[in-house]
Amino acid sequence: MTTQAPTSGRVRPAMNPDTQFFWDTAAEDRLAIQRCSACGLLRHPPGPACPSCHSLDWAASDVSGNGTLYSYTVVHHPPAPGFSSPAIVAVAQLGEGVRLISNITGVDPSTLTIGEPLEVYFLPQQEGWTAPQFRRPGSAGGAAHASTS
Ligand code: ZN
Repeated sequence: MTTQAPTSGRVRPAMNPDTQFFWDTAAEDRLAIQRCSACGLLRHPPGPACPSCHSLDWAASDVSGNGTLYSYTVVHHPPAPGFSSPAIVAVAQLGEGVRLISNITGVDPSTLTIGEPLEVYFLPQQEGWTAPQFRRPGSAGGAAHASTS
């Protein structure tokens, strides 16, 4: 996993006590997922209670960041600041079993295949937060494709 220089600014996502750990660990080039302290269930997106046992106790658990492409869509319009155009919005199935919505960068969308391997990388943003992104393992990711507008 490689940290890249800040790119153009994406709008800062909403952060709250349930999601702050996700952004804090991303800023340290780590991907963490909420794990229920009572039953051990990994869950994403973060929330206050376990959907399985309803416990309010949880901890952040580091995950590998490796996964596969579960689904995706290609957004052509409207272009958004800080996103490549077209932008690939993907559901990544992490090796740990949790699904995460993010972007795939540095890839021609017409070459994507459901089930292909993906790896996370971390893209610092001008507003001081870091976006976990996905790319093909071993590729450069999106630096060359990020919009500068
Ligand atoms: Zn639970």
